[in-house]
Amino acid sequence: MNSIRELLATTRVLPGDAAADAPLLLAHILGKDRSWLYAWPEYRLAPEQLEHYQTLLQRRLLGEPLAYLTGHKEFWSLQLHVTPDTLIPRPETELLVETALGLPVETTLAQVLDLGTGSGAIALALASERPRWQLTATDISNNALDLATQNAARHDIHNICFVCSHWFLDLDADLCWHIILSNPPYVAEDDPHLQEDGLPHEPISALTAGADGLRDLRRIIHTAPGFLHPGGWLLVEHGMDQGTAVRQLFRLAGFRCIETRQDLERRDRITLGCYSPDHGHE
Ligand code: GLN
Repeated sequence: MNSIRELLATTRVLPGDAAADAPLLLAHILGKDRSWLYAWPEYRLAPEQLEHYQTLLQRRLLGEPLAYLTGHKEFWSLQLHVTPDTLIPRPETELLVETALGLPVETTLAQVLDLGTGSGAIALALASERPRWQLTATDISNNALDLATQNAARHDIHNICFVCSHWFLDLDADLCWHIILSNPPYVAEDDPHLQEDGLPHEPISALTAGADGLRDLRRIIHTAPGFLHPGGWLLVEHGMDQGTAVRQLFRLAGFRCIETRQDLERRDRITLGCYSPDHGHE
């Protein structure tokens, strides 16, 4: 039983997402796209191809996310390499990109900082849309920075400077940006969701932030004003139940025009605010 037709027939009875992911794994090991499978149903896999497919399918059935098995994930129409060193880019994070692109920045040469870039998804999406923006993308993990740098090279993107830094800690204190944005870890350490949906396979440092999930958001929001040009914007992604707390952190840090936006599933997902020293701490 090693023709594509026979193998596809067996995938239909697989549980959960594995039924939809199995054809993608099959296409991946053959180096083809999914439509190729349906065009060549009589193609017979060589024994080593079959073994490779069965190994990957087994790992998928045990909960490993598809993106780690194929090594890539699409974000904002860019095909990105991903490894277990970084979070897998999520579609809801595209809201952060979309919102940043819509901000009323006065210069076409905006300086933009992406904190905790991981695979580089946010910075790469912005850089590809705005070739004249100057982006800085940080991460605490050198493995993540290597991956993000490779992703930039793959897409021929040259307007991003990658820097190893723990949030703002290792950045030159004199630097300023027009837009700072981040998808930091924001899941509470005891959140049962961490045991589901492939999350046990993702780096815990990219997911959790203290008992309430707000540890890193607090640091970022508190410190950002010192690194923003007057009138600059901060945008952060957060959990669906953190909107009120995050808006309060923005207020305490002296931001104005504070707003929370919802993702396509109508869950609070990002908060943004503008920092202007004149209207700062009151
Ligand atoms: N949205 C992710 C999840 O709940 C978490 C991403 C993050 O912590 N930045 O699966």
